[in-house]
Amino acid sequence: MNLLYANDRPGTYPDSWYAATSDIGPVRAPLPGTVQADVCVVGAGYTGMSAALHLAQAGRRVVVVEAQRVGFGASGRNGGQLGAGQRVEQPDLEQMVGHDRARVLWDMGRAAVALVKALVAEHAIDCHLKPGLAWTAEHSSDVDDLHRYAEHMARHYDYPLEVLDAAGFARFCPSPAYKGGILDWEPGHLHPLRYALGLARAAEAAGAVIYEGSAVHDISEGAKVTVRTDGGVVEADHLILACNGYLGGLSGQVAARVMPINNFVVATAPLDDPDQVLAQDIAVSDGRFVVNYFRLSHDKRLLFGGGESYGYRFPRDIAAKVRKPMTEIFPHLADVPIDYAWGGTLAITMKRLPYLVRLAPNVLSASGYSGHGVGTATQAGQLMARAIQGDGDGFDTMAALPTIPFPGGTAMRTPLLALAMTWYSMRDRLGL
Ligand SMILES: Cc1cc2nc3c(=O)[nH]c(=O)nc-3n(C[C@H](O)[C@H](O)[C@H](O)COP(=O)(O)OP(=O)(O)OC[C@H]3O[C@@H](n4cnc5c(N)ncnc54)[C@H](O)[C@@H]3O)c2cc1C
Repeated sequence: MNLLYANDRPGTYPDSWYAATSDIGPVRAPLPGTVQADVCVVGAGYTGMSAALHLAQAGRRVVVVEAQRVGFGASGRNGGQLGAGQRVEQPDLEQMVGHDRARVLWDMGRAAVALVKALVAEHAIDCHLKPGLAWTAEHSSDVDDLHRYAEHMARHYDYPLEVLDAAGFARFCPSPAYKGGILDWEPGHLHPLRYALGLARAAEAAGAVIYEGSAVHDISEGAKVTVRTDGGVVEADHLILACNGYLGGLSGQVAARVMPINNFVVATAPLDDPDQVLAQDIAVSDGRFVVNYFRLSHDKRLLFGGGESYGYRFPRDIAAKVRKPMTEIFPHLADVPIDYAWGGTLAITMKRLPYLVRLAPNVLSASGYSGHGVGTATQAGQLMARAIQGDGDGFDTMAALPTIPFPGGTAMRTPLLALAMTWYSMRDRLGL
């Protein structure tokens, strides 16, 4: 099944609050005939747009080929949470790669957040970027873990996190479900589609050419890489694969290690009393295995992400699926109208760390951000751009992260994941 088309109408953004509140602009032309480039980028999400922008700014001839529209994928649909560090928490990273490498990865994670802020400022991207991200939990023991994490970050990384007990957390978020948490003012949240569109405009202003409605179906490697769509061909010195969860079969090596999964978001009607959800304009994630995440929109809707589904098809009634966890967290919203409900495809790896890889001397790929892509994908694009210009340090650091293929190959990985997710979400519900 090709996720590029499984859940969406070709060339059409999902019916999301993000699409309804973005200045999308006219459709760009598809790839016409044969085009020469220094670098061909496949995919116009954060990874591809950031790579294109940085390469075009460095004077490279960049051609981007996008199957659908700019920001059509996860970059235009996500929760908008710009998280700190890496997807894996520092103590776990230390166990995985040792303290020194974990420290480098933490610094890179902070640099990713700084990069997003700098790009938004430099290119005047109107995407409601705001500070403040909190983690919370429904069980006191999980809150204790969060507080221990804050202690660890203060002691070993000199990084301050605000530690909140139940009453302190309720001052920000008065949900009866939560027992406390931690709050970080360095990361934040943004309007994801506006950010993606803003990056694309900046890349074009720097000279990159973006073709939409141009699905790549064949790649031939060599001194020149040849990339084919139904309507055209790009011949380029370098290729960047930036397809993430929508990669399909374009690279077997990546597909074995990077697995697509779906996740869902709703936007309620504007709330009469938004303070009953969030008294400050921060974003929140909880500690469930299938994470709930939420924040307010600028027009005071609750944007709530959560609800699991296994298999590649979106459920028929996304609103009903997400209303369930939303009402567990905010019982007073049981009957609030849901104006928008949509899904998207992201990509995870076994270790929940991104998979950056040099597939051939002149072919790079980055994907598998595991739900932590707003900053990390933007940075991965920058690192690939630098690597192509001869500075591969950052790319090599990320490419050296441990990665293993999913057991069962591309045929069995989805049923196996479904089994694992069912087990973990059952543990969430039982409070184990
Ligand atoms: C519902 C949801 C919520 C999320 N919440 C968060 C969050 O709050 N915070 C966070 O950090 N991350 C979150 N993520 C993850 C984050 O959105 C992604 O990690 C990030 O957007 C990945 O960017 P990307 O450019 O690599 O991929 P995408 O944005 O998916 O872009 C890939 C592009 O490649 C194109 N493409 C694929 N195949 C081809 C082909 N053959 N030919 C041409 N084009 C092709 C696709 O059309 C697509 O536009 C979420 C994801 C989802 C789906």
